[in-house]
Amino acid sequence: SARSEVLSLHDVRAGYEETTVLHGVSITVPKGAVVALLGANGAGKSTLLRTAAGLNGLQKGRIELLGEDVSKVSAHRRIQRGLCYIPEGRGIFRSLTVRENLALQAEAGDGATALERATEAFPALSDRLEQVAGTLSGGQQQMLAMSQALLRDPAVVLVDEASLGLAPVIVDEVFAFLEKLAARGVALLVVDQFVQRVLQIATHAYVLRRGRIEYDGDPGELLKSDIFDSYIGAD
Ligand code: ATP
Repeated sequence: SARSEVLSLHDVRAGYEETTVLHGVSITVPKGAVVALLGANGAGKSTLLRTAAGLNGLQKGRIELLGEDVSKVSAHRRIQRGLCYIPEGRGIFRSLTVRENLALQAEAGDGATALERATEAFPALSDRLEQVAGTLSGGQQQMLAMSQALLRDPAVVLVDEASLGLAPVIVDEVFAFLEKLAARGVALLVVDQFVQRVLQIATHAYVLRRGRIEYDGDPGELLKSDIFDSYIGAD
């Protein structure tokens, strides 16, 4: 039912000015769920997240956030209504300091508390508050990007390739953080190249293939299925 769903896409067709990338996609992110979104390069994963966040226009279909139709609601207002989108490439203000980035993320809340929460979750940031974000390591930039998922108290977090280009020990931190968020009851929609790791924390999985849902079900079952074998490395 709509009440237990945080985010849902209904028969969504979307893409870019001259191309349709998603050809009628329906997905549901229930309250407290960790939903894995898998698919080969170019399948449309990033486009789906961008569309859910309100950054790509809908050509057809409907998007609901916390039971409300937000199909025509701006990206900014979707954020205000509980959606948090962490784009591939981090999505931080590279020329601003860590402190300034955190202040912007905490816009709605209390700045001091925000700083405390972020540095508690990511101690590496606490020594670097005055450092310009663009000069942080990739891992530190990702931690800064992920801080917004704490500071905005979102209902649902959309994460695109958070572990891309990070050292293994930092990848562990990324996944530990996602698990911590999930444990707090935040719903997650996760796109990540480390498919096995995402499936380990996922409660539900979708596979997107050329803009259509090819699998919709249990993460464990997916690991055992033909779809999983054919999807690895397939285009
Ligand atoms: P990847 O892991 O490679 O990012 P993906 O599954 O996230 O793959 P998308 O990035 O959503 O896939 O891309 C889906 C299709 O949309 C691709 O054919 C891509 O070329 C196209 N596309 C992506 N961004 C744009 C854009 N800004 N304008 C036009 N087409 C785009």
